[in-house]
Amino acid sequence: MFAPGRTMMDAADGTGSNKAAGAAGPGRAGAKVLVVEDEPSLVATLSYNLRKNGFDVVSATDGAAGLQAARRDRPDVVVLDLMLPKMDGLEVCRRIRGDSDVPILMLTAKGEELDRVVGLEMGADDYLTKPFGMRELMARVRALLRRSGARRAEGNGGQITAGAIEIDPRGRTVRRDGADVALKPKEFDLLTFLARNPGQVFTREQILERVWGYDFFGGSRTVDVHMRWLREKVEVEPARPAHLLTVRGVGYKFVR
Ligand code: CA
Repeated sequence: MFAPGRTMMDAADGTGSNKAAGAAGPGRAGAKVLVVEDEPSLVATLSYNLRKNGFDVVSATDGAAGLQAARRDRPDVVVLDLMLPKMDGLEVCRRIRGDSDVPILMLTAKGEELDRVVGLEMGADDYLTKPFGMRELMARVRALLRRSGARRAEGNGGQITAGAIEIDPRGRTVRRDGADVALKPKEFDLLTFLARNPGQVFTREQILERVWGYDFFGGSRTVDVHMRWLREKVEVEPARPAHLLTVRGVGYKFVR
């Protein structure tokens, strides 16, 4: 789908890409980038250029392998193609987001306008449309690393705190007033999804799609039931929730 060779190699060989590998470059030497892309020549080009710029690179050529690599190799950034065999990029993105805050840069082909918007809603941090220049890609990857580095520097490791509630997405643990709260996996996913988007209202259908996935056949009552369970577990006064709020006629939102 991308214009092979020319644009990308030209950009890669341009001045500036090497200079950026120095101390003033990536910001974190040896940061690990996971490339999930099914086009072999693009994987090769990306890997070559990322390594040349001082990054460690791991790659996967289908969605399922990409998800596995994201969990196993603990990359600092994921470059994720949208159209992938076995599991598409949106689903991979959604699943990675279930347990990690790793920055995700989505690659889309021209004309996938709708998909890329959905991609950002699914938890991608940025996107690039093919064909793109390597310098542009490096700039995006570095920007994502800077942002996540800044988040880490805050010392919270992606942790979300709201009143008495502390959520640790990496460890998949929740505490209320310092005490561990036992949540079922979907309760945890639902809480984390809402808490990552504070103040944003989601319909039940949107929540189903993002937390349960496109292949889920249950009705929107599922969301209500999980919301009730969640409130009973994490809210101090479940009948008068302070964080997991109902927006009448629309859906739910999380407030800090
Ligand atoms: Ca592809």
